Amino acid sequence: MSDLGKIITELQVNGISSTPKKGNTGRKGGAGPSDHRALTIEGKTVMVPVYNHVSKKSNYQLSEESGRQFILQNSEDLKIEELSTTKEPSFYSLKTKDGISYKSIALLHSKDVLATTILQKCIRFRHREESCQFCAIEQSLENEQTIIRKTPDQIAEVTEAAVRLDGIKQLVMTTGTPNSSDRGARIMAEVAKAVKAKVDIPIQGQCEPPDNPIWFRKMKDSGIDSLGMHLEVVEEKIRKKILPGKSEISLERYYKAFEESVSVFGRGEVSTYLLAGLGDSKESLINCSKKLISIGVYPFIVPFVPIAGTPLEHHPSPSTDFMIDIYESVSQLLNEGNIKSDEMSAGCAKCGACSALSIFES
Ligand code: SF4
Repeated sequence: MSDLGKIITELQVNGISSTPKKGNTGRKGGAGPSDHRALTIEGKTVMVPVYNHVSKKSNYQLSEESGRQFILQNSEDLKIEELSTTKEPSFYSLKTKDGISYKSIALLHSKDVLATTILQKCIRFRHREESCQFCAIEQSLENEQTIIRKTPDQIAEVTEAAVRLDGIKQLVMTTGTPNSSDRGARIMAEVAKAVKAKVDIPIQGQCEPPDNPIWFRKMKDSGIDSLGMHLEVVEEKIRKKILPGKSEISLERYYKAFEESVSVFGRGEVSTYLLAGLGDSKESLINCSKKLISIGVYPFIVPFVPIAGTPLEHHPSPSTDFMIDIYESVSQLLNEGNIKSDEMSAGCAKCGACSALSIFES
């Protein structure tokens, strides 16, 4: 195991208790890596929690002196040779003609990924006890950081600017689940079409499995290159507890959708998020990954880091050792299955900033 893999896992599990208030300081709430900020460590950009409860208690601090940034552990310099925060992207200062800030339409993730949540509402969020317990998708609406529904034209406009001004390399689109049988596939396809008409950039769409597999073909034909359908947790009792609403979609249904989508997008172009630390055993996560890889799906395993304001805000993070054991086993399975994060067109596994898995892969 590399030292870099261990340091990044430690920081992602424990967070950092204080960071300089400059550059791209990250954000609170929303979908994806909330309460995090991006750090580049020895050439690898990763998302590290800085605003949640866990990070407040962390022994790690990010400091800066005479232009040099360094990480302290209990006041001792870890002596990381290359360390930097990311700067605020230029597109954040722009607004649409109707006065909507580009930043409330899409955000910079990691160093070169543009991410948007097309629909910031979710059918599963009508009652908090029904929603995915870790999710903060509607929190950023309450904080007025974003808008409920972004139009295809708005996202295309922001993507074009982000590519031109900030060298963005890929677009990741997620969505709250609408009350329709396509589960968000339709709006994904509409946005991808509008974006590709303006700028040629690889796109990942993320949604629940649509009822009709024809949507996989429609998403692909509209310009979506990679697909994410996120399991998050895998043991049945943990699914019921953590995903009370979404667990009505059975694992068997997901596996069928994975097979159908791989036949359209190709092996290694479909991925799923697995959140380690919510109760699934190491064995369950590794066995599930094995099955996914055999189908052609990349299991993007990330340490669960609670987001402030969610029902799980005080849930403990997994230990570094737990994560490293999983990374070692799953990276070996990925190598055997010849699935590589850097060969994907787009998506979280390609970006890799929320996990140390890709470091173990190489
Ligand atoms: S891995 Fe996905 S959620 Fe995390 S920073 Fe990259 S694009 Fe965003």
